[in-house]
Amino acid sequence: MNGIINELENASALTYAEFTELFSSLASPETVGFSRLYADFVAPDVTEKLYIISAMLIVNAKKFNLTSIVEPREVIRKHIIDSLIPLGLLVERGITPRRMIDVGTGAGFPLLPMAAALSRISPSSAAIGLDATGKKIAHITECAEKCGLASVSGIQGRAEEISHDILREKSDLSVARAVAALPVLVELCAPLTSVGGHFVALKSHADDEIAASENAARLCGLRLSEKIDYVLPGGDTRTLVIYDKIAPTPTLYPRRYAEITKKPL
Ligand code: SAH
Repeated sequence: MNGIINELENASALTYAEFTELFSSLASPETVGFSRLYADFVAPDVTEKLYIISAMLIVNAKKFNLTSIVEPREVIRKHIIDSLIPLGLLVERGITPRRMIDVGTGAGFPLLPMAAALSRISPSSAAIGLDATGKKIAHITECAEKCGLASVSGIQGRAEEISHDILREKSDLSVARAVAALPVLVELCAPLTSVGGHFVALKSHADDEIAASENAARLCGLRLSEKIDYVLPGGDTRTLVIYDKIAPTPTLYPRRYAEITKKPL
C-alpha cells in the first residue's frame, strides 16, 4: 500500500502523517461510539485505508462534483468520523453486519470508512454501495481497489428499482446518510433489508421525521428500535435512528419514486 500512499500524498497535498495527526486530534477512545473499536480504527491496516479514502476524495473532487467538503480536517470530521461513529454505536449494540448496503452512497459515505473498519473486525463481511450516479460508483470502485477492499462492490442503480430485483431483502444492514427524508428512506431501504436485520438512518436531527415515518415503518415491516442523539467531535448534532426489520415488506413497496416523494406513506 506504500506506493499508493506516496502517490496520493503528492496528488492530494495531504500527507499520511498529517492525516493521522488530524484524526487523533479529533477522535479518542472517549469519542461517542469509539470505546470498543478505537484500537481497531487506529490500527495501521485500517488507518491506511481511511487515509486513501480521504486523499482520493480530495483528488477526485477537483475533477468532478463529489462533495463540497474537501478541507482535510473537515473531510476527516464530517466524512470519516461521521461514518465510523454509527458503526461503533451499532457494534456496541451487538449489530455487526455481514452484508450491508449503503443507499445513495455518493462518494462512499458511510460505506467506505465502515468497510475499512469491518475489514479488520469482521473480515468476511461484504458491503455494497448503491447510487444512481455512475461517476460516484466509479469513484468508490477506484477507492475500494486502491484500499485493497475486495469486500466492497459498487452498483449503479436506483433503490426503488433494484429493491424489486436482485437485492430485495438481501442485506442484514441497510444505511443511508443525507439522501432523503426519513419516510422516503424507510420505503426505499426496508425492502432491501432482510427480516431480522436493521435499517439505520444517519441524520442531523430526526424527532419530527421519526413521527412522520410511523406509518411507513409499520407498512414496510420495520419497528423503531432506538434513537441515539450525539454530537460529532468539533460540534454538529447527529441522530442515529435504528429500525428492526420484523416482517417481510409487501411487494407493493417501494412505489415509483415520484409517488414515494409526492405521497409519503
Ligand atoms: N451518502 C452520501 C451522499 C449523499 S448525496 C453522503 O452522505 O455523503 C445523495 C446521493 O444519493 C446522491 O449521490 C444521489 O445520486 C443518491 N440517490 C438519491 N436518491 C437515490 C435513489 N433513489 N437511488 C439511488 N441513489 C440515490
